[in-house]
Amino acid sequence: GAATAVGVPESAQAHPRVPRSAEPARAMEDHVFSWCNLCPWRCGVIVRRDDNGRIARLEGNPDHPQNEGLLCSRGHAGVMDVYNQDRIKQPLLRDGPRGSDRWRPVSWDEALDLIGERLRAVRDEHGPQGISVLAHSYWKKPYHRLAQALGTPNFIDSVWAMCLGPRMLSYELVAGRPLTGIETLDVRRTRYFLIFGRNLAESFLNGEVRDWMRALADGAKSVYVDPRHTITADRSHEWLPIRPLTDHALVLALIHTVIEEELYDSAFVEDYCTGLDELRERVAGYTPEWAAEETDIDAADIRRIAREMAEAAPAVLAYAPRRMARTRNDVGLGVAIAVLNSLFGVWDRHGGIFRPQRLEIPEPDLPEFPESAAEPIDGTGVPDRYPLANPQFGLASTFWSALAAQDPYPVKAMIAAGNNAMKNTGFPGVVRRAIDQLDLFVATDIQPNETNRLADVILPEPSALERYDDLQEGWGYRGWIAVRMPGMEALHDTRDPWRICQGIAAQLGLEDYFPHGSVRELIEDRLEKAGYDFEALAEKGVITTEADPAHNFPREHGASSRFDTPSGKVELVPSRLVEHGLDDALDYRREVERGGGELHFLFGRVSFHTHTRTQNNPWLAGFMEENPLWIHEETASERGIVDGDTVEVIDSRGCREVFHARVTARIRRDAVYTAHGYGRDDPRLSVAHGRGGSATTFASPDIDPTSGAAAMLRGLVHVRRIEPSEGVS
Ligand code: SF4
Repeated sequence: GAATAVGVPESAQAHPRVPRSAEPARAMEDHVFSWCNLCPWRCGVIVRRDDNGRIARLEGNPDHPQNEGLLCSRGHAGVMDVYNQDRIKQPLLRDGPRGSDRWRPVSWDEALDLIGERLRAVRDEHGPQGISVLAHSYWKKPYHRLAQALGTPNFIDSVWAMCLGPRMLSYELVAGRPLTGIETLDVRRTRYFLIFGRNLAESFLNGEVRDWMRALADGAKSVYVDPRHTITADRSHEWLPIRPLTDHALVLALIHTVIEEELYDSAFVEDYCTGLDELRERVAGYTPEWAAEETDIDAADIRRIAREMAEAAPAVLAYAPRRMARTRNDVGLGVAIAVLNSLFGVWDRHGGIFRPQRLEIPEPDLPEFPESAAEPIDGTGVPDRYPLANPQFGLASTFWSALAAQDPYPVKAMIAAGNNAMKNTGFPGVVRRAIDQLDLFVATDIQPNETNRLADVILPEPSALERYDDLQEGWGYRGWIAVRMPGMEALHDTRDPWRICQGIAAQLGLEDYFPHGSVRELIEDRLEKAGYDFEALAEKGVITTEADPAHNFPREHGASSRFDTPSGKVELVPSRLVEHGLDDALDYRREVERGGGELHFLFGRVSFHTHTRTQNNPWLAGFMEENPLWIHEETASERGIVDGDTVEVIDSRGCREVFHARVTARIRRDAVYTAHGYGRDDPRLSVAHGRGGSATTFASPDIDPTSGAAAMLRGLVHVRRIEPSEGVS
C-alpha cells in the first residue's frame, strides 16, 4: 500500500526506541514504587535510589497491568522533573505588574494568609460561586474536593472540552458505555483496524501501542486514515490521505455500505440493537460515490474496506481519535464510529470492546458538601444549552469567555492547578482578559509556564517522584490500584496538592473536609475500609483483581451483554440525542470552506512530548530541537519554499507564527502540520524558551454545540517564505 511505498519516514530518524535499562535491576536494591506522571497512561514505575538516598533511575514495574515493565522515553526522563533547574522552588508573590516576572519569595504561612484574606473577601462579596477552581489529572481529586467544600459550581477539568469529551459522550449515547482515557479495547486480539487519525505510534500510550504492534505481528491488518503520513501510517498496511475534517463522511458511507450489502452482524443487531430501520433511512444518501467526492477516497476502497471489516468481525475496531476536540461535530463522528463498531457486533467479544473489571476502594467519610446556590458560568446549568455535557468536568471551552465577560455573574478568584490555558487553547487573548478580571489568581505547579506567569501567587509542588499521592485506581482486563511513594525527600520548599488544598481550606474554615494529617494517612484510611493494608500494596506497588475472562467477554462465554442506555439496548440512533433535538449531529455537515491559497492547519503529537508539559525536560528536548512545519513538495514549490526555509504562517485573524519548513511528500497538498507544545515564550523555561512556533495559535475558538467541546482543528492559514531576519515579531 501507500504506506510502504513512501519508505522510511524522515521523522523516524529522530524517533526514539523504547529504552531499556542498561544495568541489571539488582544494581540498586533500594527502591520504592510510583507511577509515571509524564502522560495520562500512568505506567507503574520502580524508583531506584543511589547510596545517598537520591533518585538515580526509573524502571517499569513488571507487575503493573498498564505497562508490564516497559517505560517510554518520557517515562525514563521523568527523573529530570526532579532535578530540573527551572523548578519553582518556594512560594512566590507577584511583585510588579502582571507578567512582569517580578516575584517575591515568601513563606508558606505568608502565602496562605494572603490567599485566605482575599478568598474570604471574594466569598463575602460574591458568594462561594465567585471563586473558581481548575484542575485535571492527579490534581483533580483534592481540588474538586476543595471546590465542593466551598460550594462553588465553577470547577473545571479541561479533559472533557479539550480532549476526550466527544468520544466519551458518543459511546455513552450509543451503548451506555463511555470510552474513557483507559480504553477498554481488546487491541491484542483485533484482526482489522480502521484508524481515524489516532496516531497510536506517536501519541504513544504504552500498553495500547504495544498491543497494536503485537496484533500486527500476529497478522492483523491496519488501515490508517489521516491527511498526514505519520509513523502510525508507516506501520500500517494502508494509508488513506483523507481530505481534512471529512472523516464523518467516510464513516457514514461505510455504514451505508454495511447496511446496503447486509454486512452487519444480524444476530447481534436483532438481539441487542434498536433503530436499524431509522438508521438505514438516515444514511440512504451517503453513498460511497458521494463520500468519494467529499473525502477524496475512492468509492471502491470504501466498499472494499466495509467488506474486509465484515470478514474480520467481530475482531474489528474502527478506532476513534483520542482527542476529539477537533470540529463542530465531533459527536456526529464519534457516534458514527460507535455505530459502525456496533453493527459488527464488537461488544464483549474477543478483538472488540470488552467489559472492564474495577477494584473499588471506598472514599473517606467526610461531612456533607453544601449545595451550590448558583449555576456554573460555563453554561452547563442553563436548560438546553449543553444538556449532554458532563457537569463533573465543566466546559473549559466556554468558561474563559464567561470569566472574561464576568457574565452571568462576577467570578473574582481562581485557583488553577497545573493549568496552561495560555498555550493549550485557541483563545489566549480571552484567557488573558479573564485573568485580568481577577482579584486573586493562585497557580500551583512544579514548573513555570505561560499561565502561572500571570498569577498573583504561585505555590510550588514536589515532583511526582518526591511525594505520596492518593491511590491510583484503574480498570482493564483486571481492576487495579497502584501506589505512589516518595523516592526521596523533596528538594525544595514545596507542598503536595492535598496539603495545599488543606491549607487553603483551613483559611476558609473548611478544615473538616481535609481530616487526614497526610496523604499517607488518607491512603491507609481508604485501604483499611477495603480490607487491604499498606504494606501489601507497597510490596509490588500494585494490587489487581483476579483475571476473569467471563466478566470481560460475556458473549464469548455464553452470557449476555448489558447496555446502560434508556432502552437497555445499543441505540443506532441514540434516543438522548433525539430527545434533546440534537440529532442533526447524525447528519454530515461540511466543516470549513477553503478560500484561495488557504491551507488546513493541523497539529498533533510526537512520541517524546505530552501536551505542553515536557518541552522543558532537557532529556526530551534533545529529541527534536524545534517543531518544523510540514508542507507538501508541490505546495512548497508553488510558494518558492525549499526545505529548511523560514516561513510565516498567518490566519485571517492576523495570528502569526514562524517555523522552518519541512518539505515532504508525507502530507496532503491542502494542509500543513506541526507538533504541539513548542513555541514557548516564558523566559523562565531555560530549555524550551524560544524553540519553534506554537501550534495552538491557529486552533479555532469554535465549539461543538452537542458536547460543548472545543473545535480546535478548523484553522485555515496562509504560508509564505520570509527572510530569517523577518522571523522576529
Ligand atoms: Fe509514562 Fe510513557 Fe507510560 Fe505515558 S506511556 S505513563 S509517558 S512511561
